Amino acid sequence: MAASPNGCRYCGIEERSHARQWTREGGWHAWVQPTEEQIKARMFARRSERTAR
Ligand SMILES: [Zn+2]
Repeated sequence: MAASPNGCRYCGIEERSHARQWTREGGWHAWVQPTEEQIKARMFARRSERTAR
């Protein structure tokens, strides 16, 4: 499943439901603004996921 475009940079969870999460990459973290690149890549992934179904 593709992450939400505006989801956290490390785990992809949206800011409103994030709280504290753990990832191998980021350790324990609060929501972090994703990069432009990530947002674009996720939007693209979502679009192709929808088209594939
Ligand atoms: Zn996160």
